Amino acid sequence: MEKPFPLDWQEEIPLNAIPQDGSDLEERIFLAITDDRLGYSFPRGLNFVVLATRTSGGVVLRVSFKCEIAGQCARCLGDAITTVEGEDSFFISVGGDGISEAKAEGFQEEEFWCNLDSWSDRIDLVPILWEVLASSIPFRLVCKDDCLGLCPSCGADLNDGPCGCGGVVTDPRMEVLRLKLQGLGEEK
Ligand SMILES: [Zn+2]
Ligand SMILES: [Zn+2]
Repeated sequence: MEKPFPLDWQEEIPLNAIPQDGSDLEERIFLAITDDRLGYSFPRGLNFVVLATRTSGGVVLRVSFKCEIAGQCARCLGDAITTVEGEDSFFISVGGDGISEAKAEGFQEEEFWCNLDSWSDRIDLVPILWEVLASSIPFRLVCKDDCLGLCPSCGADLNDGPCGCGGVVTDPRMEVLRLKLQGLGEEK
């Protein structure tokens, strides 16, 4: 089965590199993403910051990222580019029994990521980075908040001014209703 994240990503943290005094291990990670499984391109790559902190029973990971995404405007189909940021936290238990231990340390069930056997293990960051990225990017892009889109009748870009086609501009939902009413009229 194809993995959901790019196969050329490779990032790990050895658990024993995380300071024992409770201070953060900070990793700054730059990743390129060339495949288009998210439907966008990332012209400047992805910049992640990962903070790993030891607790008594495991590790807290705080992951944030910032990137530019480019794609097609959902309204006018022109080029759209926007800056996206996201962050999330995860708990990894070490040598414990997972969720119950996470809860005992005050974490929510959805913050529990996995259990690792011992402090000589490594955290595979790739699925975590992917999770934060995939849950933060927008479903659609617009080239600007007030993009007027295309005329539904003639297809002209209304950002360039009124199209003058004279076509009746109908909301697609209204169009369904209009056709229904038309059908009722014809039954008479
Ligand atoms: Zn647009
Ligand atoms: Zn038009």
